[in-house]
Amino acid sequence: MNMKKAIFLDRDGTIIADKGFVHKGEDLELLPGAAQAIKMAKEAGFLVVVITNQSGVARGYFSEEDVKAFNRHLNRILTREGTGVDAFYYCPHHPEATVKAYRRVCSCRKPQPGLLLQAAKELGIDLSRSWMIGDSPRDVEAGKRAGCRTILLNEEIDLLKAINQIIHGFANEPGS
Ligand SMILES: [Mg+2]
Repeated sequence: MNMKKAIFLDRDGTIIADKGFVHKGEDLELLPGAAQAIKMAKEAGFLVVVITNQSGVARGYFSEEDVKAFNRHLNRILTREGTGVDAFYYCPHHPEATVKAYRRVCSCRKPQPGLLLQAAKELGIDLSRSWMIGDSPRDVEAGKRAGCRTILLNEEIDLLKAINQIIHGFANEPGS
């Protein structure tokens, strides 16, 4: 089987507005250009995989079912825009969780690369040809530890610009 290339995306603050522990459909706000960016990535032959820390589960703010329902809702909205995420991976843990079942030092909470490694294994992804994009340094760190190239979003570079760089720009050069 040919290994696939992927673009791993953080969710909150990268695809949708980060309002802090977002978990209700009514609070879902796509960031400008995000749907177009995901569409472009897929058309360029990348799998698009969300990698998200959801410690709100560990903190007792919402359940894993809420996370899954919210992610399905996000994909319904993206479908209306003619695109969608191929897979969602989330970490529900936190080392100081109030919910005991989720209290642990895990290998899946970014900056740990566990979720990227799991996705690579399950989906047949070549990490060296893949990218991690997010709005937090720990997204970048997780991507680097998994052996991906990375882009950190900021005021100057949003998701659409980042995807454009990967597909058309200098960021696609080896070693960058
Ligand atoms: Mg974020």
